[in-house]
Amino acid sequence: MPVTEPAWTAGAAYLDGHFMPIAEAAIPITDWGYRRSDVTYDVVGVRDGAFFRLDDHVRRFRASMETFRLKPPEDDAAIKRVLHRCVALAGLRDAYVAMDCLRGRPPAGAPYHPAYARNYLAAFALPWISLVRPDVMERGAHLVVAETLRISTRSVDPRAKNFHWADLTRGQFEAHDRGADFCVLLDEAGHVTEGPGFNLFVVADGRLATPDAGVLEGLTRQSVIELAREMDLAVAVRPVTVAELRDADEILLVTTAGGIMPASRIDGRIMGNDRPGPVFRRLHDAFWDKRAAGWHATPVDYASIHA
Ligand code: PLP
Repeated sequence: MPVTEPAWTAGAAYLDGHFMPIAEAAIPITDWGYRRSDVTYDVVGVRDGAFFRLDDHVRRFRASMETFRLKPPEDDAAIKRVLHRCVALAGLRDAYVAMDCLRGRPPAGAPYHPAYARNYLAAFALPWISLVRPDVMERGAHLVVAETLRISTRSVDPRAKNFHWADLTRGQFEAHDRGADFCVLLDEAGHVTEGPGFNLFVVADGRLATPDAGVLEGLTRQSVIELAREMDLAVAVRPVTVAELRDADEILLVTTAGGIMPASRIDGRIMGNDRPGPVFRRLHDAFWDKRAAGWHATPVDYASIHA
């Protein structure tokens, strides 16, 4: 791997056509991406020098952009080259790699309408981030079902990754006030949706289920479904009720930033022996073993540092 300049090792960014050290990456305060959360994004992980499901993440990013009617100048191949180069410039073997498309804002004189804004791409690579700290991985996360409901899918389509996080953030304060780590949000019908940055699986009698609607169709969720099928674990994608969540033997939190993470309490009820359960352990170990063996892997093009 090429030697990286010290200024870049904290992270490397790409903003509207230019690469720069992460500390220099800033967006205009008047940008609608910031002022209106008028932005979409995706996050792909790099472990041991390889992206995980890179094509799937870029495909989902493109679909999210289409949902929000955002169009940067870069095509998918160019976006992938940007991501490779951000990781290479930062010299990272394990990285959290984000891609965002911001609305921008209409130029002076144009109608004050999003259709007239010039959209642009931002991307960055940071040292690997996990949502769950090592001590929480060890004991299992403590969850609460929030009073706050997930924003209606008729208002914001959760399948398009977005920063309309007021519901998730409010739920996180509920969790904090109740001494828990994370909230889980329900929809209007009382079905489980997702949490702040993760999808959920409930496990009962050795069978897994994950909500079929009202959620981001997470790529870690997809990977767990593939893995469970390979391991002959029953897995269903269907509505999950709050009662099922509260009565579960195990609950798994799954996301790019951390992989498969365990929960040990829900609304104060202890699951199992107050530690990560056996289904979690099997899936977690298989997930990382398969990743180490190159599952869905795209090696980072470190030579792109010279591009
Ligand atoms: N749900 C939400 C709201 C998220 O923000 C994320 C990831 O950031 C996920 C689910 C998990 O998706 P993935 O596994 O593709 O990272």
